[in-house]
Amino acid sequence: MPDSSIDRELLIKKASELLRSGATMLAETCPICHSPLFKLKSGEIVCPIHGRVMLVKSEEEVSKASVESVLTELEKVIAIKLSGYINMLKSGREVDYEEIRNLISWLDALERIEKIKLVIRKSSEMAIQRKGKEQK
Ligand SMILES: [Zn+2]
Repeated sequence: MPDSSIDRELLIKKASELLRSGATMLAETCPICHSPLFKLKSGEIVCPIHGRVMLVKSEEEVSKASVESVLTELEKVIAIKLSGYINMLKSGREVDYEEIRNLISWLDALERIEKIKLVIRKSSEMAIQRKGKEQK
């Protein structure tokens, strides 16, 4: 473990701050500095030194992480598209069937993205929990 680069005192100080705020220490370690990671009440996983980290443990995890970022990008693009519909609806002009169908398709796409993200998140959480149990 490359401990020399880490300020141990800072680490201990930050870690105790996190514990006081109700965070729990995980069996996982930071991929950068190998400090123990903490799970905040909000569910966010943080390193006491580096702050928010994304846990990437295997090739599968890497691909999940990139799928999630692509989905997030996609969501943004769809949100922009949907805001265009708001203007159209506000304008008061008649909206034809085709446009409504397109709107519904975009909403469907958003719903699917959310579902996929949920599945990805759940399976990574389960992987963390499994790993946690193995180490006990
Ligand atoms: Zn770190």
